[in-house]
Amino acid sequence: MPHDRPHVAIVGAGVIGLSCAWQARRDGWRVTLIDPHPMRGSSWAAAGMLAPVTESTPSEPGVLELGLQAARLWPQFASDLTHDAAQPCGFNDAGTFVVGIDRDDASELTRVQSQLAAYQLDYTPLTPSEARARESALSPHLSSAMFVPGDTSVDNRALLGALTAVVDRLGITMLRERATTVDAQHVRTAAGSTIMADAVVVAAGIDTPALIPGLDIRPVKGQILRVLMTGATGKLLTATVRACVHGRHVYLVPRSNGEIVIGATMEERGRDIAVTVGAVGDLLQDAREVVPGIDECELIETWAGLRPVSRDNLPIMRIVNGVVVASGHGRNGILLAPLAAHVVKDILKGVVTP
Ligand SMILES: Cc1cc2nc3c(=O)[nH]c(=O)nc-3n(C[C@H](O)[C@H](O)[C@H](O)COP(=O)(O)OP(=O)(O)OC[C@H]3O[C@@H](n4cnc5c(N)ncnc54)[C@H](O)[C@@H]3O)c2cc1C
Repeated sequence: MPHDRPHVAIVGAGVIGLSCAWQARRDGWRVTLIDPHPMRGSSWAAAGMLAPVTESTPSEPGVLELGLQAARLWPQFASDLTHDAAQPCGFNDAGTFVVGIDRDDASELTRVQSQLAAYQLDYTPLTPSEARARESALSPHLSSAMFVPGDTSVDNRALLGALTAVVDRLGITMLRERATTVDAQHVRTAAGSTIMADAVVVAAGIDTPALIPGLDIRPVKGQILRVLMTGATGKLLTATVRACVHGRHVYLVPRSNGEIVIGATMEERGRDIAVTVGAVGDLLQDAREVVPGIDECELIETWAGLRPVSRDNLPIMRIVNGVVVASGHGRNGILLAPLAAHVVKDILKGVVTP
């Protein structure tokens, strides 16, 4: 590769760093990724919902607006990635059912619907039997239901696989070392390497503040699990199901390989990633109440991950002391990846992005 191209060093190979690396490479940059454990952070742990609408709350209009922008980028991002990686990235545009079990859950859905109406967002109110006609594994005991077509999903592990394939195919250098210090043009690593570059991007998730002191990003724990549909269950779900179950929230995200991801807790416990019996029990109990056929699925994995969350739940994508920061994407980092890559590409070009 000719060395007259500008060179960017990107610290962190989660979904944000990998997406930035891919888009920068497409834009003609020479790219070095630095990460001792690529793809094993929050991005590996996620459920992969691309859900700007059903993940938003009325108190966070900025999160909703960014999420909607990112969701609009996803179909093209997925198609370009599938092309460049020469393998699928697990994008599923089947939409999301939102359901409630009891009367209080139904009031919660009504509240969500008035928020959607206020923002003129697309949704279809359904009777429980209409919902069951479309997703037959749903419980016969629902109190309320609606369908949100714009909230889609991606198999985040397939996505990381495709991004890794792109790294190989496009000649991006992957250095498996831990960065210890960064400045506008250097990354120094624990192994003693110094990488010189025309620009440095830090996308190190919850570890970003260790490299850029003063940034307010904290870990928020999520416990989550995977089950496998079997011959006995058949294909239980085609679309994501989000449910309010006696006031608690659970989601079920089907994968094309027959798995369903069920999640997730939100816990302020520092860096603790223990999986607890109580959390797994609650998730399974709520999931079984919404989709009783889960009982026949095989439980194949439980795990916990740490979301990189900023104080205002908005991502931090700006230059700090000469270094480009792309971090703090919180509970929506998979959704926001195309937008983060786009913003970082513009920053690298010297374009100011609002
Ligand atoms: C249980 C759970 C469910 C989730 N579900 C969803 C969902 O449905 N939809 C959604 O959009 N988002 C979801 N998220 C959030 C999403 O996973 C994150 O926002 C996103 O993965 C953050 O990506 P990242 O690249 O910033 O961080 P990470 O994936 O954590 O990557 C950071 C990388 O930086 C590396 N690194 C750290 N320090 C250094 C260093 N000093 N030198 C070099 N490398 C370093 C790490 O090894 C790691 O690979 C979920 C998260 C969790 C935990």
